[in-house]
Amino acid sequence: MNKKMTPKVIRMIALQAVLVMITVTVVGGAVITHQKYKATGDPDNTTTTEGTSENQTTEVSTTQTTVPSTSAEDTTEDSAMTGTAEHPYAYAGFTPKITDVNVDISKFIVNGEYSLPKGYKPTLAEAVKGSGYYLDYRVAPYYQKMYDAAKADGITLTPVSGYRSYERQERNFENEIADNMKTGLDRKEATIKAATVIMVPGSSEHNAGLAMDICSLSQSFENTKEADWLRENAADYGFILRYPKDEKSRNITKVIYEPWHYRFVGVDAAKEITAKGITLEEYLGLA
Ligand SMILES: [Zn+2]
Repeated sequence: MNKKMTPKVIRMIALQAVLVMITVTVVGGAVITHQKYKATGDPDNTTTTEGTSENQTTEVSTTQTTVPSTSAEDTTEDSAMTGTAEHPYAYAGFTPKITDVNVDISKFIVNGEYSLPKGYKPTLAEAVKGSGYYLDYRVAPYYQKMYDAAKADGITLTPVSGYRSYERQERNFENEIADNMKTGLDRKEATIKAATVIMVPGSSEHNAGLAMDICSLSQSFENTKEADWLRENAADYGFILRYPKDEKSRNITKVIYEPWHYRFVGVDAAKEITAKGITLEEYLGLA
């Protein structure tokens, strides 16, 4: 019986060997593509901003762990990027709609009610040459233009925070939940509390690469010549003060006054929004 089975067994082993080789080749190809993408477009791989090496390590190790344990079709990144019907923090009352990312940038809404699809990753470009801060590639040239114009007026619009990856936002958020749970809260309570200090992953304009925090994260920034310059000129470059100070606006945005957070909406929309003194939500008829 063993002798009869032998050729069949050999054929099976040979077939499996071929399949393994194909799998390794495909997975190897996916790894190379991933690294190429990171080298050209991913700030986590090329900058010295806070959390950079942490991000790089995490992403690389994720790639490596997929190699020995899964088949080729499981390693495509798209399968991990697809949004799920259920929001990951729905258990704590977060049930935003998924925002349409394929609209004109002036209509691209990201807030507590409209979340980016899980894992959303814009194509990026450096906001100011050599700064290590990135924005959506459609936005970055406008920031550079605004930066240069301000510089000519003796004003330096230092980038403080630009694009942040969905994954990094998720890690920060999960860490905050874990810290809260150590104080005795259950996961739901810990998540609700975390959302008061860190935006739920996908609900920050920074995850979309559409916003830049400029110069400072202090409310006193409003009293500086940089803030004056921005209020006066940002709209000419397509940027709006996204979270204004007045109570009506705060009730609409549900975000505190942030004199440093400027969002790109395009020049025409920015001029209209700024001239009317309205929020993006009002401009889009959502409030
Ligand atoms: Zn911001």
